[in-house]
Amino acid sequence: MPGGNILRSLRFRLAVSYTIFFAILLTGFGFVLRGMLSEVIESTVEGLLDEEWAACKGFLRITSEGNVQWNYDPADKEEAAIVERLRLIYMIADDRGEVRESSELYREIGFQSPAEIVEVLNTGRTRYTYHKNQRNQVFMVRQSPLSESNNRYFLALGRNYTPSQRVIDQFSNSYFFALPLIILTAAGLGWLLARRAMQPVTEVASEVAKLTGSNLSLRVPLRGSGDELDHMIGNFNSMVSRLEQSFQQIRQFSTDVSHELRTPVTVVRGQLEVALMTAKSEEELREVIEGALVDIDRLSQLIRALLNLAKAEAGQLTLQMKPLDLAALVREVGAELEIAAQDRGVDLRLVLPRTAWMEGDRIQIERLLYNLIDNGIKYTRAKGFVEVCVFPSPSRLVLEVRDNGEGIAPEHLPHLFDRFYRVPGSKTSGEKGLGLGLSFVAWIVKSHRGEIEAQSTVGEGTTFRVTFPVEVQPERSRPEDGDQGETAGRHSHIGS
Ligand code: ADP
Repeated sequence: MPGGNILRSLRFRLAVSYTIFFAILLTGFGFVLRGMLSEVIESTVEGLLDEEWAACKGFLRITSEGNVQWNYDPADKEEAAIVERLRLIYMIADDRGEVRESSELYREIGFQSPAEIVEVLNTGRTRYTYHKNQRNQVFMVRQSPLSESNNRYFLALGRNYTPSQRVIDQFSNSYFFALPLIILTAAGLGWLLARRAMQPVTEVASEVAKLTGSNLSLRVPLRGSGDELDHMIGNFNSMVSRLEQSFQQIRQFSTDVSHELRTPVTVVRGQLEVALMTAKSEEELREVIEGALVDIDRLSQLIRALLNLAKAEAGQLTLQMKPLDLAALVREVGAELEIAAQDRGVDLRLVLPRTAWMEGDRIQIERLLYNLIDNGIKYTRAKGFVEVCVFPSPSRLVLEVRDNGEGIAPEHLPHLFDRFYRVPGSKTSGEKGLGLGLSFVAWIVKSHRGEIEAQSTVGEGTTFRVTFPVEVQPERSRPEDGDQGETAGRHSHIGS
């Protein structure tokens, strides 16, 4: 992380999380191991005490008067050694808790109170307890009842637990002593691993840093591993492509707008200057001013179109949705554009039902029709035709604007509705548009919950097909048979 705070780097956080996780895991594991070890040792010592207790029962006799006797053959050395071993740590008490016999070592540990002894006798259960003597040695003591000559006695046997305790302590000490070292090594390893893991990200970041507004043609090279990072680079590159395209369009648009605006302004200025210097009569001046006004009108139209699109895309244009007759509207717009069509020698045909009702904003739908039909006329050669059809399909109303003009190459079709997009090298139209018309059309269609598609073959012509959802009864838009109006399938010719 060049120049950045290392504590906030992903690498550092990765390494720290890994180390913390590892430390918790190892500490927990240590405690579990220690617990398991103590349990094993404890049950082994308990087993040994059980065996000694069983052996005791074989040698021990208590008379009905309560005298304790150890029955064994003193001449048998082995037996004598066993009994001696058994009598190392032991204590016998009667059912009132009174001690009958005990070893020296047991006395050091300390006797159980009569109440404790009576409790063991009453419950009849064996218990194992730990005790410490004054020399800090730990003993495990097995306490249980013993029946002899119809009397109940308490027999406690002990075993030195200190060696076992030492094993457990030794294990804990060495494990928990080594733990910080292991964790430190793991942290170092984690730090290196995190660097390896973050290396590609750092590389990609430095590639990304090379991108600026003026060299958007750069792409971050794919690493070819097909992993998440490659996927991200792919997405990033396509985002940069889209950005580059937008930058390009905006640059193009600024050039176009300044050109479109500057030319008429220069012309008007020139006209007015010449008139000022050379006009001899009021009549001549009036003529020049009228000409200038026409140019200024075109200019303000252009500015209005730009403002409208900007407003529409910023969501500031509110639509006045009302039932409207699309067929009637097509007739009106058709009549308005008829002169333009005649001028270009294009046959404008309308194929319309008597009425075609839909919900829409009259001004916007009019604008849509104007744009689509005007484009048809603009991009069609003389003797060509533009045909506008309106017809219903289930729950939709279809508008088709078809021409047999120059057509559009397939690679341009997907961009047609993009803002400022113009098919490069379009031959037919003498006028230079701004490439805003179709993007506005697309916005109008979308805001009416409709759909638009363009089909085109170069040299054969283009068809724009718009469908609007209709909630009004289909009868209202169905052509009426035998009516004097135009019916579906009958071509209505206006003009040439
Ligand atoms: P313009 O103001 O350039 O006409 P539009 O957004 O209306 O802008 O259209 C975008 C581009 O689509 C046009 O520049 C033109 O090249 C192409 N185009 C639109 N309509 C047609 C058509 N009917 N036939 C051929 N090309 C068309």
